Amino acid sequence: MQKKETERYWNPFLETLSPQEMKRIQFKKFKRMVEWAYLNSKLYRRLYDAAGFKPGDLKRWEDIPNVPIVQKEDYRRAQAREPWPYGDSLSVPLDEITEYHQTSGTTGQPVYQADTWQDWEWWTEMWAYMLWAQGLRKSDRVFILSGYNVNMSSWASHYASEKVGCEVIPGGILNTEERLLKIKELRANVIMASPSYVFRMEDTCKNKLHMDPRELKIEKILCTGEPGANVPSTKRQIEEAWGAKVYDNAMATEVGGWGFECTSQPGGLHANEAFFLIELVDIDRGYPIQELHIPGKIVVTTFDRYAQPCIRFDTKDISMWGKPCQCGRTFRILKGGIHGRADEITKIKGVLFNPLTVEEVVLGTQELADDYFLEVKEEDSAEILVLKVEKRPGVCLDTKTLERNLARQLRLKTNLTFQIEFQEYGTLLRPEVKIQRFRDMRVNK
Ligand SMILES: [Zn+2]
Repeated sequence: MQKKETERYWNPFLETLSPQEMKRIQFKKFKRMVEWAYLNSKLYRRLYDAAGFKPGDLKRWEDIPNVPIVQKEDYRRAQAREPWPYGDSLSVPLDEITEYHQTSGTTGQPVYQADTWQDWEWWTEMWAYMLWAQGLRKSDRVFILSGYNVNMSSWASHYASEKVGCEVIPGGILNTEERLLKIKELRANVIMASPSYVFRMEDTCKNKLHMDPRELKIEKILCTGEPGANVPSTKRQIEEAWGAKVYDNAMATEVGGWGFECTSQPGGLHANEAFFLIELVDIDRGYPIQELHIPGKIVVTTFDRYAQPCIRFDTKDISMWGKPCQCGRTFRILKGGIHGRADEITKIKGVLFNPLTVEEVVLGTQELADDYFLEVKEEDSAEILVLKVEKRPGVCLDTKTLERNLARQLRLKTNLTFQIEFQEYGTLLRPEVKIQRFRDMRVNK
């Protein structure tokens, strides 16, 4: 049965449950996953046995923090075993797998993601919540701006768009110019891409096609893959350039699309609590954080996805709980979306530094292009932060003044001094999918 276009929620029952009722259902699902994984997955049995944990120890909500956390590295190690390529990470026989995807590999050897057809239906249903919440309906024509291939978000976006009734155009192997022309030709009104690729599109549109992106009349831009779309200056800049609304989504290939922004744009992400248990834990000591506005690390459990379970997965992403959203969904809000990564937050000259802060400053500086690269290195035992930026073409302000203004802003935000290097416009990397903008070259980090 087709849903009514005017319905606000994809699943009106689950999206508006009281917190108590949601917790009751979540605990039941969590327990079921833990039991399933212990019985069927060698990876989880090894992990739990090593920690002396048994599923029977899980009796009430307060026992959840006693369940061992799983790391990306645990999947890598399990997949290095036979049978190739999933090793002993699976909980179902290998011949039940119908879907192959993998992580981007920006932090090392990719993790292979195996799903059964039933799991794949889970992916599209879960993804449909976010698309519906961002106002996608039958009348929309969606253009997916990625090469598909083994990338999970392209396929999940594609199938979920069909599920909510949109018309979908697969961007596939077209280059950026061809994609822009295709969007124009077909009058697509929704695009999906990573924030850094949206910037590349803007750049190509203006400088190669000599066209204002607003002429394409895109109404919605759905971002995933990087945290940028919840950084206020990034969101503002994309919305102004395209004359469109920008919505942020959070996903990980091993986990699923666990967070989404709704049309109320609450300054954060809804945790999809119907499909995931989202926990915030203290970055150093791991205890649970329930209070608002205290930063913690996001730990996620996937419910009802059985081939390769994902229980208390350490995403390393940082966020904080925020106030409820005006849209009526009772799914909790992660204020500001993802603030950075726990494995990138580091001490430099004794000061705690989050590289994502630099993005806010660079993208908030109109004279600068949207790409940047940040590196910390050691020279004669001194720690040096090097920021590479590009000046936009046609900017009148001289480089010296721009450098001075930028250094002052960075100092204000981070309490650190940066060595700023100006690169020729267009020389910094502008990839299509996930981008690593920070490199730590110090020997003793
Ligand atoms: Zn909302």
